[in-house]
Amino acid sequence: MTAKRIDGKAAAQAIRDRIGGLVTEFRSAAGRAPGLAVVLVGDDPASAVYVRSKGKATREAGMESFEHRLPASASQEELLALVDELNDNPAVDGILVQLPLPPQIDERVVIMRISPDKDVDGFHPVNAGRLAIGLHGFVPCTPLGCLRLLQQELGDLSGKEAVVIGRSNIVGKPMALLLLRESCTVTVAHSRTQDVPAVVRRADIVVAAVGRPKMVKGDWLKPGATVIDVGINRTDDGLVGDVDFEGASEVAGAITPVPGGVGPMTIAMLIRNTFVSAARREGFNYEKSL
Ligand code: NDP
Repeated sequence: MTAKRIDGKAAAQAIRDRIGGLVTEFRSAAGRAPGLAVVLVGDDPASAVYVRSKGKATREAGMESFEHRLPASASQEELLALVDELNDNPAVDGILVQLPLPPQIDERVVIMRISPDKDVDGFHPVNAGRLAIGLHGFVPCTPLGCLRLLQQELGDLSGKEAVVIGRSNIVGKPMALLLLRESCTVTVAHSRTQDVPAVVRRADIVVAAVGRPKMVKGDWLKPGATVIDVGINRTDDGLVGDVDFEGASEVAGAITPVPGGVGPMTIAMLIRNTFVSAARREGFNYEKSL
């Protein structure tokens, strides 16, 4: 059996195009464009690439991109002052502070300072809490993108056995909560889990968010399982995921490639969250399933 390759790039483009259309309507109704502010501190090359592609995607959707750069030596107070300014700026609907931050700045303090209603990354504890108890808020972009791919592939997820490998605050934990919200039976595996392959073998849905190149092997999978590979690992062989794509393709029903799977969906969900924030702030009607 050869698994279907889930095309995250095409799915992401379709979402971005749809939002682009809604932005045109929003602009004529609200008399302004939705705005996303992205803050980059220092000059980490990978972060600079992410910030550039986020800015480009924002503009392509017809939204305003506000890009702020602070030097690597910036103090926590300077960054907090900028966040305060963006919280108060009515043209800004979403605020994203690119992580990681330099060591003199406490990431948690900065995230807590972003208004929860402009926190389009969904990292603020208020939004984490909203997700946990089933209130509307912002859900982190990567797990939300994974959920969209799963729904596109499988339709209703209710009753499925789902295994999430990884329990980070930005991927694994929110992913598990989203799958629970969709009425999956959810297991979260992590570095202390005994016999991860045996746990994974139960799953109709596997989401791997570990950061270990090609860790999940084909013989760990239940035949026909849907596999979402979040991993981005730079190796001598280039960019690889957390799943051994070749081996897994022989057993899985469908699988995301790396690159071209989850990565593009993360950016599409950032654009989505920014649009949703603007719509909420202006009382503009939009499809809740967006
Ligand atoms: P973290 O390092 O924060 O978390 C990794 C998780 O994997 C931890 O919960 C850890 O367990 C678990 N883990 C580590 N080793 C094992 C093991 N041998 N068996 C089972 N579980 C293990 O990573 P992130 O969640 O931030 O990211 C995960 C991957 O996803 C990375 O490759 C990252 O680059 C990628 N990523 C991709 C994005 C995208 O847009 N496509 C966005 C964000 C991340 P424990 O908690 O016990 O330590």
